[in-house]
Amino acid sequence: PGTLALRIQVARLGAEHVIALVEDLTYSRRVEETRRDFVVNVSHELKTPVGGLSLLAEAVEGASDDPEAVRRFAGRMHAETARLTRLVQEIVELSRLQVSDTFDEPVPVDVVACAREAVDHVRLLAEDKRIELIQASPTGTDVRIFGDPALLTTAIRNLLENAIHYSDPGTRVALTVRRQGALASVAVTDQGTGISPVDQERIFERFYRVDPARSRRTGGTGLGLAIVKHVVAGHGGEVSVWSEEGQGSTFTLHLPVPPALEDAPDPGGRSI
Ligand code: ADP
Repeated sequence: PGTLALRIQVARLGAEHVIALVEDLTYSRRVEETRRDFVVNVSHELKTPVGGLSLLAEAVEGASDDPEAVRRFAGRMHAETARLTRLVQEIVELSRLQVSDTFDEPVPVDVVACAREAVDHVRLLAEDKRIELIQASPTGTDVRIFGDPALLTTAIRNLLENAIHYSDPGTRVALTVRRQGALASVAVTDQGTGISPVDQERIFERFYRVDPARSRRTGGTGLGLAIVKHVVAGHGGEVSVWSEEGQGSTFTLHLPVPPALEDAPDPGGRSI
């Protein structure tokens, strides 16, 4: 990082002239390095669930005369397979996003509708954990940007899932969508474990987890926030985090509203 990679080719042109071709390879080198690191990370991450499955299969074989043990091991195999499936899906998603941080064909995106869909996806998860989901968008909020609605929904859903996973039962998770002039914001606030300042610097890196065991227990892949970061960058925005250990966290997506959509007519009375 920070090193410039240049390829210089010099050729003589007659007796009095030379031409020099200078190519900036910095970007392509960086892309190549990112890809190489990603492959190393991915193979390492795949080894854990695959190894776990193979051990569980052996355990099932060894316990063939104990139906209760077989059922228990089979249940754990299901959970591990679900995690593996999700890991593969997120790897594919992230590798697509890493190739380019812009979308080929952006379409108008109704941010409130994306937020509503993300909430629908996590409703059961929240209920199971007795976490109250609060949707606190000001009434009449109409927020439109250009981009990819499915990806934006995924990003909001990842934030909501994290908020639920890293919080205790009986707490609240709030989702707010706002528009302030040329900026839209989507904020997810929880009353969970919080994140130390040192970890806040690193949580957007792929496969970085503060507590790997807890992440694994909740089916986490360590890719959720890396995906959020790339999706937001693709929309020309940024993601910020405020957090206090033991108090909770707020993750906010800041998304630019294109001038053409800034004064979009407000259909009125829309909350999530
Ligand atoms: P994971 O699949 O492990 O949740 P993420 O990329 O979504 O991966 O998040 C990276 C790490 O950041 C998590 O493992 C967790 O330690 C921390 N984290 C993310 N969101 C929260 C949150 N709302 N509260 C506390 N910690 C969080």
